[in-house]
Amino acid sequence: MGIPLIWVYQQAYQAYGHRFWWPARTPFEVVVGAVLTQNVLWERVERAIALLEDAGWLEPGRLAHATPDELRPHLQPVGYYSRKAPLLREIARWYLDHRHRIPQPSWRGELLNIHGVGPETADSILLYAFHLPVFVVDAYTRRILSRVYGVPGPWDAPYDRLRGWIEQRLPRDVALYQDFHAQLVEVGKRSCKRRRPRCSQCPLRSVCAYALRDGKAFAPAGEDPPRRSRPREGPGKAVPRAIAR
Ligand code: SF4
Repeated sequence: MGIPLIWVYQQAYQAYGHRFWWPARTPFEVVVGAVLTQNVLWERVERAIALLEDAGWLEPGRLAHATPDELRPHLQPVGYYSRKAPLLREIARWYLDHRHRIPQPSWRGELLNIHGVGPETADSILLYAFHLPVFVVDAYTRRILSRVYGVPGPWDAPYDRLRGWIEQRLPRDVALYQDFHAQLVEVGKRSCKRRRPRCSQCPLRSVCAYALRDGKAFAPAGEDPPRRSRPREGPGKAVPRAIAR
């Protein structure tokens, strides 16, 4: 199907450079951030993490025994307190039980068995906190790839089908998965808006079917990506600190 997926990554990388994701200082902060960011802008997550840290709750041993009422004031920026407070406690317990073990693919099933953890949260934890090769799919991934490829594909398919489609087309490389997801988030935030994509300023415009649809078709694999003469307008998380690997 069309251009190699790695080209999409390369175009964004050349524009934005390495994104140094996930934005956190410790693996446990990745875990907490992955839970807090559900349905919430990253700016709010940063504020909640700062509150939790100031109060000493970013210690997994302490968070594992927190009561919802103790966490409530620190979760005010992200809302969903009644759901996220118990989930933080559960995920802290899971983390305590796993943090010194060799990461295993089977952990995905364990995480998904925790009430409130979906595939995007589980894969974010596995990829960025434990460096397992699983690609994180989010709304930006679906929107951008559907526009870039511009043909029927797994864009609206269940999470795992699209994740498999992506992983089959990339080298199995943790660092690539980490940075590619971050690049897609950056493209989505800056250019690939839901209603009015800003194709003229997007680093993917030369390989994107949406931007090229009144121009030429894709170049065959091995040739340079096609150049776009005139971008076309139509229908359509902050990046904090880098985690030490
Ligand atoms: S070129 Fe336009 S449609 Fe394609 S990914 Fe960029 S912003 Fe989205």
